[in-house]
Amino acid sequence: MKIICIGRNYTEHVHELQNETPTAPVVFMKPDSAILLKQHPFVIPEFSEDIHHELEIIVKISKVGKYIEPKFAHKYFEEISVGIDFTARDLQAQLKAKGLPWEKAKAFDGSAVIGDFVSKTQFDSLDALTFELKKNNQTVQKGNTSQMLWNIEALISYVSTYFTLKIGDIIFTGTPAGVAAVQPEDVLEGFLEEQKLFRIQVK
Ligand code: ZN
Repeated sequence: MKIICIGRNYTEHVHELQNETPTAPVVFMKPDSAILLKQHPFVIPEFSEDIHHELEIIVKISKVGKYIEPKFAHKYFEEISVGIDFTARDLQAQLKAKGLPWEKAKAFDGSAVIGDFVSKTQFDSLDALTFELKKNNQTVQKGNTSQMLWNIEALISYVSTYFTLKIGDIIFTGTPAGVAAVQPEDVLEGFLEEQKLFRIQVK
């Protein structure tokens, strides 16, 4: 399976990192080795002094597809969740400055936290979902999918232009504002609406 990630999909987050608002989705990938195994702590890697959490809505692909039209994109996923796109912000800043690919800053081991998936049918609309990250019981990120520059269907359509989507692939749909560094002993909990879908300990 592959993990396809979208960058700069929420205007406030684009501004907090002083990036330009994109005219098309920013796309990058993580390998399957990036997945943080269930029940495992997230261990801050030695190559970074500034690992940021990015809470994101994630989508699990349930059907093979390529060149999917937005109006049919809903047929290609049944389940959604929340996850964290851990980012070595210091390393990413160096790579961005040189115009180099982001993989070392974005795709390292443990950088993809995947929450428990839930059926999308329990929600009235996927375009008005609230999601939230609590760090040590304090809310640090809160988003709503209504703030996305490109919604889930648009993203599925867009990425399928370049990559065949396969069963089990996961799309990270971008983070809202509020990204910040994590420290050893932090506890991070991800919520979709009122449901807690992951809890991880930072080491
Ligand atoms: Zn992200």
